Amino acid sequence: MRPVFKKAAIYAAVISAAIAAEIAIVRLCSDREDGGDGPQVVRWPVMGTVAQMTSRKHVDELEFGELFMRVQASYSRVEQLLSAWNPESELSRLSAAGCTNWTEAASPEVRPCYEAALRLAEESDGAFNPRVGEKLRALGMGRGRYSRFDLGAIAKGFAVDMAAEEVERAMGGRYFSFLLDLGGNLRAVGAGEWRTGVRNPFRGVDASQPEICAVITLVGGESVATSGNYERFVEKDGKRLSHILDGRTGEHVSGIAGVTVVTPREYGAMLADGLSTTLFVLGPEAGAAFLKRFYPLARALWIPDEPASPRIIATSNMAGWLERADWPVSSLR
Ligand code: AMP
Ligand code: MG
Repeated sequence: MRPVFKKAAIYAAVISAAIAAEIAIVRLCSDREDGGDGPQVVRWPVMGTVAQMTSRKHVDELEFGELFMRVQASYSRVEQLLSAWNPESELSRLSAAGCTNWTEAASPEVRPCYEAALRLAEESDGAFNPRVGEKLRALGMGRGRYSRFDLGAIAKGFAVDMAAEEVERAMGGRYFSFLLDLGGNLRAVGAGEWRTGVRNPFRGVDASQPEICAVITLVGGESVATSGNYERFVEKDGKRLSHILDGRTGEHVSGIAGVTVVTPREYGAMLADGLSTTLFVLGPEAGAAFLKRFYPLARALWIPDEPASPRIIATSNMAGWLERADWPVSSLR
């Protein structure tokens, strides 16, 4: 098998060009198109992806800048501890030292992330499996990975929760409305609603397709995460194989193009992230039963990998809640 990162490489090139431009101007750019009342936005590269923080205009630029630095520091801290790609990260060092009891060995601040990963693995009977990195490496998809334990399916969401706490602490009892986005892991922080698009997973192969296929409105405290087969994959005999493996068998998961999960405040962005990967593996029927049993407040949708007749399969609490769905929506449970 030839590991192919063709599309991924193009994305990477585009992203790194964007990142280079961003670094040159890492500036707090306020969107002033609507006469000064538009949101404040900042984007920067971190954790191998792009982070974005948006605020409705309730803070001045100086305070927005200070909050940006806090959020940036949270993400960098998580990266320092949990990166599987950096040989100096705590995760990589523990791995190199032959660690077996990860939760005990890890720094207290990131323990919840290890615990959630292990809990998801147990609840899903191994469909979610943080040790799947070994297999990915064997397949040539984890080259450069320094850890046997892989929190790539959950660490970004965890970082978003840490950053959200920072923002909440700094803002105290004041009114605020932020949207944090770390590589597609979004969390609404504070008051107010944010309309977000569900990305069309088929756009990568057909640029004439619309960029989003449905709209979801997040209210304060809610998070949304997406797992897809369209950004990172390997190609075999012209077929795209996803970077998500079934943790029980080590096989590439096929049949699903994308999964989107919305979680309430009590679950947070970490579980949205972990669940999107778990539900990608489980598929709609088993996935909905899994949610009902362990995470009944989460909402989820699956987009089968059928570009010729795109459709959405949603849990019943998600189906009625989607806006502007371009495709037929069927409801589960
Ligand atoms: P996400 O984009 O959040 O769905 O995370 C995907 C990443 O999680 C992959 O790139 C792998 O590093 C890792 N991964 C792949 N399959 C699994 C699995 N079954 N359980 C846990 N992590 C996985
Ligand atoms: Mg995930």
